Amino acid sequence: MTDRTARTTVAAQAPKSPEFGASFTAHMVTASWTADGGWSPLVLQPHGPLPMSPAMVGLHYGQVVFEGLKAHRRTDGTVSVFRPDRHAARLAESARRLAIPPLPERLFLDAVDLLVAADQDELQHVGPNAPALSLYLRPLLYASEAHLGLRPAREYAFLLIAFVTGGFFADGPEPVPVWVSTRHHRAAPGGTGAVKFAGNYAPTYLAQEEAARAGCRQVVWLDAAERRWVEELGGMNLFFVRGRGAGAQVVTPPLGGTLLPGVTRDSLLHLATRLGYETREERVAVDQWRAECAAGTITETFASGTAAAVTPVGSVRHGDAEWRIGDGGASPVTLALHNALTGVQTGRSPAPDGWLRK
Ligand code: PMP
Repeated sequence: MTDRTARTTVAAQAPKSPEFGASFTAHMVTASWTADGGWSPLVLQPHGPLPMSPAMVGLHYGQVVFEGLKAHRRTDGTVSVFRPDRHAARLAESARRLAIPPLPERLFLDAVDLLVAADQDELQHVGPNAPALSLYLRPLLYASEAHLGLRPAREYAFLLIAFVTGGFFADGPEPVPVWVSTRHHRAAPGGTGAVKFAGNYAPTYLAQEEAARAGCRQVVWLDAAERRWVEELGGMNLFFVRGRGAGAQVVTPPLGGTLLPGVTRDSLLHLATRLGYETREERVAVDQWRAECAAGTITETFASGTAAAVTPVGSVRHGDAEWRIGDGGASPVTLALHNALTGVQTGRSPAPDGWLRK
């Protein structure tokens, strides 16, 4: 086989995206907290099992919060982390809600720097045939004390692990069918919906299974009080596009305490303005979503998140009703925002001040 043939074969078999969250990089960073000593120094060590008491509070009572952020390989070969200060702030907010001592932003950023420096070679260089891989970073704060009384723990641990991913949807930004949950709710006023509490996720799996039986990929959560207002997906925020072309309006539900303030959501509101679209934070009722799709007012819908970036929604099922978004063709505003976001992350376009940490 000549060199030329070998190269062609490699290109034809460009690697597929690895399964999301299934295999991890070589290292992890840990730290611990005690009431007397506060936070310990960070330790970089091989990724591996943790020592754990069978009576650990986090395991029994769910005093656990986490984050999800990404490092991207840029076109100039360097690696940078997307908006880690926002993720540090949200982790601190989540910790406060769960009566966990917040991790100082300095320690969060140092941990990210340590792990990215140790494992960045696992993130391949950007090439013409390479899928857009990134390093997904998972910080976790959990109650590590062995104690079964019902009170906040007196010992905590911090953990940062990572994996290489091509995105949440292994087959790329294909339009996904979504299913509106009417029987279950994700978050109630005064609850924990606005923070990244571990216990927000497992209760959504049952609805996710129902969605899958209906041929859908994701669950749309409505507000728990009126069961009417579209809030978000299980791990992504939602956006609606009204109109077409330069005059299109980019709309997302307001943060009312029951949905997660997504860092991608905030970034897209900013980038949409930069692209010249009007942006609005506005409540959209599920019936209005359907009616506006039928009338052609809502032309696109997409989901946003660290894992999924910008993912178009193709159709919706709500009870017996089913509707398509747009005309089944291109979603130009969704695509423009997807390109703007990934452009900033990979260095194809300039990033707003403070968004990237090298
Ligand atoms: N909503 C929920 C419930 C989530 O878990 C996530 C993922 N963190 C998002 C929205 C998107 O947030 P971000 O853009 O910060 O990843």
